[in-house]
Amino acid sequence: MVFAKKKWGQNFLVDNNLLEKIIKTIDIKKDDEILEIGPGHGALSEKIIQKTKTLKMVEIDPELIQVIGQNPLLSPFEIFNQDILKTNLQELGLNNPKVIGNIPYNITSPIIFWLINHLPYWRESYLMVQKEVAQRLIADIGTKDYSRITVMTGLYFNIKICFYISPNVFNPKPKVESAFISIKKNNKYDLSKIDSKKYSQVVRMAFNQRRKMLRNSLSALDINRDKCEVDFQRRPEQLTIDEFLDISNNIIS
Ligand code: SAM
Repeated sequence: MVFAKKKWGQNFLVDNNLLEKIIKTIDIKKDDEILEIGPGHGALSEKIIQKTKTLKMVEIDPELIQVIGQNPLLSPFEIFNQDILKTNLQELGLNNPKVIGNIPYNITSPIIFWLINHLPYWRESYLMVQKEVAQRLIADIGTKDYSRITVMTGLYFNIKICFYISPNVFNPKPKVESAFISIKKNNKYDLSKIDSKKYSQVVRMAFNQRRKMLRNSLSALDINRDKCEVDFQRRPEQLTIDEFLDISNNIIS
């Protein structure tokens, strides 16, 4: 056992029932290819390889790379000693994998944006996240949880909370509750027709000042308001994804 390092968010899963529940939820078929982010000591990885022959792992901690390398069950599987956020998924030699991770909670948003940036190269994803983050990801319009990450991910994903997880199944125990979420692509929007940079800019500016009306928070942008069907007296938590798209499509650049 390697001593848990806080800086890499190391809270290891130690509950066999929970591991089985995760595996059942992911529903791995024998031809599925899996990328596991942060395998740690390999508790989940050992279950994954009972279901499929193709598992690759990305782990930042060199000590844990050694632990996996000394595990006869896991040593035949490829593990990359690198930061997932600096990893190019295309270069891992996987074909449309499912991406799975009990990830460090301090990099949840960057990992979700990493998934957005690698959208064509994975099939579906399952992540363990802090409960409050999960609730923001699935928040309904008009609620206090409806936020930048809801609107950003909503353009690309259907996210579901599969189940909640108590701190007791980890060692060391985190201070927060967790949730296991599934991320599937929604295919609702024709992404080839969307300027994702503009969309992201509008969403960021609007939620940076979420108490303000759009006409103030977006005042630095040159928007053709006559063509927009959006009422700029509203605040960002009252806007649908389609309305954010309407605004970003009408930025004069
Ligand atoms: N999967 C293991 C489990 O469930 O017991 C470990 C989970 S632990 C919460 C997070 C794991 O991610 C650790 O092994 C940690 O070293 C690794 N990790 C942290 N930051 C990472 C990064 N940027 N890229 C890849 N792995 C990372």
